Amino acid sequence: MACEAERRPLGVFECQLCALSAPYSYVGQKPPDTRSVVLLEESYVLKDPFTADRNKFLVLGSRCSVCSRLVCVGPECSLFYSKRFCLPCVRENIDAFPREIQRDVEKRKMPAKMPCSKPRSPT
Ligand SMILES: [Zn+2]
Ligand SMILES: [Zn+2]
Repeated sequence: MACEAERRPLGVFECQLCALSAPYSYVGQKPPDTRSVVLLEESYVLKDPFTADRNKFLVLGSRCSVCSRLVCVGPECSLFYSKRFCLPCVRENIDAFPREIQRDVEKRKMPAKMPCSKPRSPT
């Protein structure tokens, strides 16, 4: 079987900011067996194990372009703005980002804070 080797995971992706870890099967911008898919960044990719569709795959994460930490694509860990940035690096260099990104990060920063207009009611 020729496809035997590519099924084997290359290793385990571990986000260095959260607890996410998952085996990845490809690192790069063009996952194999995908038709005309080119990723915007070098990514850790896992072939979707839940479907037989060869074009389906999951992007687990990639390396921060500033500190080269390995981070997942989760909104609490990183964002993509022409390159991948981990959130700690974004916050350190927040002035370098456009206002829409700043606002977006502000939102992510305070997950516990509820807007005052929305009173909590036990339902
Ligand atoms: Zn993460
Ligand atoms: Zn970083």
